[in-house]
Amino acid sequence: MKKAKLLSLCLAGAMLFSGCAPKSDAPVDDKTGMTAGTYEATAKGFGGDLKISVTVDADKITAIDVLENSETEAIGGAALPTLVQEVLDSQSIAIDTVSGATVTSNGFIEALKDALTQAGADLDKMSQAVTGNTEKETVELTTDILVIGAGGAGLTASLSALQEGNKVVLLEKMSFAGGASSMAGAGTTATGSKWQIESGYEDSPEMLKADMLANGHNYNDEATLDIFVNTVGAAFDWLVDPEGANVEYDNSEPGRTYSGVGRGAGVVKTLLQRVEDAGGDVYLNTAGTELIIENGKVVGAKAESKDKIYTINAKAVILATGGFGANDELVPAEYQEFVYAGAAGATGDAIEMTKAVDADLINMEFVNVQPNSIVMPSGLGQYCNPGVGGAYATSGAFLVNENGVRFANEQGKAYDLIQAMKQNKTNYLILDQASFDAFNKGMIGSAIYTEENVKEWLENNGSSNPVMVKGETLEDLAKTLNLPEGSLTAAAEKYNADVAAGTDEFGRKLTVEISNDGPYYAVQMWLRYYATLGGLHINDQMQVLNTKQEAVDGLFAAGEVVGGLEGDIYYGGSLFGWAMTSGRNAGVSASSMIK
Ligand SMILES: Cc1cc2nc3c(=O)[nH]c(=O)nc-3n(C[C@H](O)[C@H](O)[C@H](O)COP(=O)(O)OP(=O)(O)OC[C@H]3O[C@@H](n4cnc5c(N)ncnc54)[C@H](O)[C@@H]3O)c2cc1C
Repeated sequence: MKKAKLLSLCLAGAMLFSGCAPKSDAPVDDKTGMTAGTYEATAKGFGGDLKISVTVDADKITAIDVLENSETEAIGGAALPTLVQEVLDSQSIAIDTVSGATVTSNGFIEALKDALTQAGADLDKMSQAVTGNTEKETVELTTDILVIGAGGAGLTASLSALQEGNKVVLLEKMSFAGGASSMAGAGTTATGSKWQIESGYEDSPEMLKADMLANGHNYNDEATLDIFVNTVGAAFDWLVDPEGANVEYDNSEPGRTYSGVGRGAGVVKTLLQRVEDAGGDVYLNTAGTELIIENGKVVGAKAESKDKIYTINAKAVILATGGFGANDELVPAEYQEFVYAGAAGATGDAIEMTKAVDADLINMEFVNVQPNSIVMPSGLGQYCNPGVGGAYATSGAFLVNENGVRFANEQGKAYDLIQAMKQNKTNYLILDQASFDAFNKGMIGSAIYTEENVKEWLENNGSSNPVMVKGETLEDLAKTLNLPEGSLTAAAEKYNADVAAGTDEFGRKLTVEISNDGPYYAVQMWLRYYATLGGLHINDQMQVLNTKQEAVDGLFAAGEVVGGLEGDIYYGGSLFGWAMTSGRNAGVSASSMIK
């Protein structure tokens, strides 16, 4: 999250006033009712308060400044300039919310209405949508390589194709590039890279493959895994090479993964810049909708924006549309009760588009689930690893189910904890004061939420997300959570007896008792999913395969839209690594095939 003055967009010739109150002799317009001046207003955004100032003259809005925001830089933060521009262009408050940034959009519109009310504007008039010609303009484009989806895979594919001397059109359906890639930590697999070899770190494609097969319970598609383990090192070299993608990574700690500076958002920002600098034509707010197929060969795609329909002719098409976690029709039913924490644009569009070429799909039943999550007020899942680690190390803390009964090794393998949590209707983390403080310290330290949030959520007393409840005694807590009377007291007594005896039926190394004195806290814990592990089946040239296992001429895929790399659970750093590697490979492969 970012708290910063973000942007300032003014129309040319705009009148700017220094204060927020209008001058008393400022003109009032009869038509709009507005008194010229600058007005400030605050509303709740995705990550906290969103404060804007709106400058109006007698008959129009001349400037909107975002003064403060805590939106995620890559999503809500990226949507704000679009929202500002839409209002300035339309002079209306009936603007569309930015897809994928609905909470930010709604907060922005609320603050805007407040500021305009202060200005005396006629909100009814300003709420009328601007109706223009609804007929969409048709546009035809011709390029060498068309890339659909501007996340990590689409950006690396585009840059590679540009560096191979091709003309590239890159489509992104959202108003900002990045997708899930911009939300990721950007730990990136680098097995076999120059950095890793120079550091002497012991690793090899064979070791990576063995670890990923074991992690994915052998559900991995070995051919796809082979592409990854054998090319990830070279792709990483290109990613950090000044002559390659020239993305900044931290080389201070040798390992199997290296971290992108500025996390996923930083990597995406640099890649987008590189694509634009290399002459790529990037179309935001433009969704690829349909493949154009001639005699079994893909020769382009149709795309659509708010006011245009495109026919894009291309010698090759690279699908890089990401996962399908945001599409309930594709996510297996058993996962849908968990909370989603991925990108809004991950709707599996390429899965639908490739029905026309009878594409083969693999591992569609696997979605990456993780434990230790809370639901944020926005409704999105948020991981709590920085919180639980500190809580378990500092004082007594344990998980209970809807019966108030402890049920698992909270610090065991994520996979095992997931299986145990899946059996429950509800999961709560029970903490004493010291472990609760440590939990929040980790979360606040990772900029996931603030101390003010904690106060507010405790006041909500479980009536809204995230559920964070305080009780002076364990019995108070049980009552608030509707857990059976005596259950939490019994769970704590058993837990402390196990600490004293140095044993645990679930195999956790219990070291610190839960305090015998209140207050106590409960935080509702969820399983969350944010990445999908199934998708298109590809060959070693990154070409999409049909159900007869034949390569579809002219069609390539990269990133999370490809299925089979991971098996049934993802291996840390490999999805981001795969986005970079497969994008690089697809860009190079498509380039060589169209020569
Ligand atoms: C919160 C979070 C944390 C993560 N952390 C890690 C991590 O630490 N390490 C790791 O290895 N992996 C992590 N992952 C997973 C990893 O980031 C992704 O698997 C990877 O970045 C996907 O890259 P991609 O380019 O394939 O897809 P994306 O980055 O999702 O990009 C796909 C893009 O295509 C666009 N698009 C979709 N359909 C269309 C269409 N029809 N037309 C035009 N554009 C379209 C989307 O809007 C999106 O911008 C994380 C994911 C999330 C959500």
